[in-house]
Amino acid sequence: MPSYRRIVLKLSGEVMAGPQGFGIDNDTVNAFAQEISEVHKTGVEIGLVVGGGNIFRGVNAAAKSMDRVAADHMGMLSTVINGLALQDALERAGSPTRLMTAIQMPSVAEPYIRRRAIRHLEKGRIVLFAAGTSNPFFSTDSAAALRALEIHAQVLAKATKVDGVYDKDPMKHDDAVRYSTISYTEVLSKGLRILDASAVAMCRDNGLPISVFNSNIRGNIMRMALGEQIGTLIHEVK
Ligand code: UDP
Repeated sequence: MPSYRRIVLKLSGEVMAGPQGFGIDNDTVNAFAQEISEVHKTGVEIGLVVGGGNIFRGVNAAAKSMDRVAADHMGMLSTVINGLALQDALERAGSPTRLMTAIQMPSVAEPYIRRRAIRHLEKGRIVLFAAGTSNPFFSTDSAAALRALEIHAQVLAKATKVDGVYDKDPMKHDDAVRYSTISYTEVLSKGLRILDASAVAMCRDNGLPISVFNSNIRGNIMRMALGEQIGTLIHEVK
């Protein structure tokens, strides 16, 4: 039996890229879709927020003197491209889906309307939330926190390529230690950059737990949904 009834799963654009590190890798997307679909078939209601960093990241372009707002608009549109790829793969894996976008483009996807999103979830559809928050200067982590709160998800699940939250970057330091649980405030005060600070603060202020786990390990999405202790749980440690 799944432990969570309703989750929001945040996939970074990076995980869609697979081994090539950029763009969309079909095999990788299909494997994710298969796994998400298996979790969905156990009865968990799933909202998905996909990033866009595999295609375009606003802040990087702004650093090279592009206007930040235009760059962020491009970043948000890239999340729609990823959303379409994931939607297609999920439907092929046998799960009904709806793609909702925060930036209106009715011939491509439904506009994001909170009540309609909840209805889709209740009817057993996976809902993909694309185009971030529709605002520049935000990230898809913040979009995921926002949507999770709006639809009353029980957890924000952040899928990454590391095993959880570490005291320092595990890619650079062999002696990095992983936390199994940590408080929101500690993540923020220690400057642990596993998730954007604004997303962590939003979850802290509203008591939404964040599960950070490695989605490159097959079966981890299911383990997380079952409430197994994998990765790191960010919550209010009393
Ligand atoms: N973005 C934005 N507002 C949002 C969400 C995303 O402007 O609410 C833009 C921003 O430029 C960002 C890009 O979309 O760099 C892709 O999102 P993100 O970097 O969060 O993707 P990820 O790192 O998860 O792949």
